[in-house]
Amino acid sequence: MLRVLIVEDEVRLAEALGQIITEQKYQAEVVYDGETGLDYARSGQYDLIILDVMLPKRNGFEVVRKLREEKIATPVLLLTARDEVSDKVRGLDCGADDYMTKPFAPEELLARLRALSRRQGDVVLEELTFGDLKLNLSAYSLSCGTRSVHLGYKEFEILRLLMSNPQMVMPKESILTRVWGTESDAEDNNVEAYMSFLRKKFHYLGSKVTIGTVRKVGYRLEAPL
Ligand code: CA
Repeated sequence: MLRVLIVEDEVRLAEALGQIITEQKYQAEVVYDGETGLDYARSGQYDLIILDVMLPKRNGFEVVRKLREEKIATPVLLLTARDEVSDKVRGLDCGADDYMTKPFAPEELLARLRALSRRQGDVVLEELTFGDLKLNLSAYSLSCGTRSVHLGYKEFEILRLLMSNPQMVMPKESILTRVWGTESDAEDNNVEAYMSFLRKKFHYLGSKVTIGTVRKVGYRLEAPL
């Protein structure tokens, strides 16, 4: 059974994470500050660690750096706030294996945990692929063959969401929450506008990938076999 340590000081989020994980029949343990997180992680008895960046006592960067110094290689998924894009790079530099921006969909969290548990912390996630497309997660660029384009923040986040969940239809609601945030008053047609930007970029790149619309549900990436 997968044993997951959750280090998150926002109690409601920590509990929600614990619930998502135990529903998968994984084992979850929750602590609320960086110092305790480090102590627990040092025991080496976890398969995965979900680690918030902004934590009391020790921040997430310090915790993961300390663990790596002590040769504890447990895979770490860092949780960063929406606007702290530079945290991603810093987190990976410290030795984290992957990062996820809050808020996120439970299915995205689970997909990342599954990927991390397979990787066992050896490889850093740098790109996502779908069909003939490659999304570079550090350069924010999308390429197909020799062509490449830069993506704006929202285009990038939408595409990352779709490429991280290639088998599922991504509801418009989830895209709005995930990319625009829960406080935003953005509407469905904002999502549609960005889908049309992305389609134009796919076309420019000469990609065979399309964004399929499932009526009244959402979007999914499609590629010819
Ligand atoms: Ca926090």
